[in-house]
Amino acid sequence: MTDCVFCKIINGEIPSASVYRDEQAYAFRDIAPAAPTHILIVPLKHIGSVNEMTEADEQIVGHLFTAAKKIAAQEGLAENGYRLIVNTNAHAGQTVFHIHLHLLGGRQLTKMG
Ligand code: AMP
Repeated sequence: MTDCVFCKIINGEIPSASVYRDEQAYAFRDIAPAAPTHILIVPLKHIGSVNEMTEADEQIVGHLFTAAKKIAAQEGLAENGYRLIVNTNAHAGQTVFHIHLHLLGGRQLTKMG
């Protein structure tokens, strides 16, 4: 998608602090971190949000979780723990419409809501 910030990050048009890449996913550090470690994990395929996901995307979206597990281990977060968040539309505060997992860790996180 030509006007998508995360598509531009994936193809290198916009710089990012890369932490992981494979054949289906890319991960980079959030530009405005909400925790000591704040990483965004995105599929290479443009999917706007969970609302736009189809059953054909289940493998790709599931793959983001196994990527998250590897990244958490790589970042030294696996034992103490971390949080994975997916925001969808306005009430959740979604600002970039390319589906992504936020991986947050490195401190005790407060309860959600
Ligand atoms: P969300 O609010 O769930 O849509 O999350 C979008 C996230 O993308 C926010 O946490 C932003 O700080 C982050 N973000 C936006 N632009 C960039 C960028 N160019 N590089 C890294 N993170 C970004």
